[in-house]
Amino acid sequence: MNLHEYQAKEIFRDHGIPVPPGKVVTSAEEAASAAREFGGMVVVKAQVHSGGRGKAGGVKLARSPEEAAEHASNILGMDIKGLTVEKVLVTPAEDIASEAYVGVLVDRVTQAPMFMVSSEGGVDIEEVAHTNPDAIRKLSVDPRYGLLPHQAYWLANSLYDDPKQIKQAAKIMGQLYRSFQAAGASMAEINPLIVTPEGEVKAIDAKVSIDDNELFRKPDVEAMRDSSDEPQAEIDAREAGLTFIKLDGDVGCCVNGAGLAMATMDLVKYYGGEPANFLDIGGSSNPEKVVNALRIITSDPAVKVILFNIFGGITRTDDVANGIVEATRQIDIGVPIVIRLTGTNEEEALKILEREGFSAYTSMDEVVEKAVELAHQN
Ligand code: GDP
Ligand code: MN
Repeated sequence: MNLHEYQAKEIFRDHGIPVPPGKVVTSAEEAASAAREFGGMVVVKAQVHSGGRGKAGGVKLARSPEEAAEHASNILGMDIKGLTVEKVLVTPAEDIASEAYVGVLVDRVTQAPMFMVSSEGGVDIEEVAHTNPDAIRKLSVDPRYGLLPHQAYWLANSLYDDPKQIKQAAKIMGQLYRSFQAAGASMAEINPLIVTPEGEVKAIDAKVSIDDNELFRKPDVEAMRDSSDEPQAEIDAREAGLTFIKLDGDVGCCVNGAGLAMATMDLVKYYGGEPANFLDIGGSSNPEKVVNALRIITSDPAVKVILFNIFGGITRTDDVANGIVEATRQIDIGVPIVIRLTGTNEEEALKILEREGFSAYTSMDEVVEKAVELAHQN
């Protein structure tokens, strides 16, 4: 889950990182009055789940409340990388002497948080990594001890020469690490971390992504969710306790277990088809889940066939079969369903399905081949 800049800044502020104040608004008039409140120059910034807003024209300096209103009305409704801007942040403009990059993310290779810092801030870190990799200093953090003070100084040392700035930056690194941990983040980034002409170090941009698996124990972070740019089907699936990702093909997939779901999608591809979605109904065999899953899959007009692939371990396949029967009574499916069930209570499940006129398979290859064939026919 991605946070908006203003939300990430709230978390940073709570942990003591120097962040300029700001106001989130949804209209030009409100932008003008926020600018009036702050006095002087302000920056009007698009709040969308995307980086590179500056380049896209979503970050604008305003010299007066009138100009702030003008920028706000241009930025609100703007399309940035396919996302529509619905909110802008109005924040006092800072004078900038230098821009640095400071970020921490979960690194797959070391399986630990990794800091990346660079004195070349304000631009994409990927770009710096490509053109000037030596300008990035990296440090892997042992999560048992967190970021130790000498490590924070070692990182800060690569950014600045002035001891006062190094000291401020080292403190901010520690605060950033604590923000990252407290929010259950997979990534937390300040780009740019600026030095003002007076020598003050501040964060003027903030980007945080949350690990979805942390959300159940962080209700205050979950409350920051903005679903406005998520596909409706994914929102419905989350509310129904299903893991669902919409894809571009026409074979609707309903599978239990993430590993089996991946293997099923691979097999669909192998037989020349294209999966319409990834859907994991999870380990429980609650028929209600199956009904919800079918409702979500059939809401996609691209779906030409629905493929069930269920391996009954803890899941009772007769429950799934009852769920399928129940769903077809409640909703008009409109496309063929092919089913493969195997495992716990398989014989009963197959009887239930055959009684209702479904073709049920026990071989995964056969059922996938059949599903792809039907998708091509329809
Ligand atoms: P991003 O493009 O989405 O990363 O948005 P940023 O908040 O990082 O802004 C992009 C760039 O705009 C920064 O790197 C700065 O150069 C500039 N900028 C943003 N805020 C200010 C500000 O308060 N004062 C000045 N002078 N420039 C700013
Ligand atoms: Mn930025």
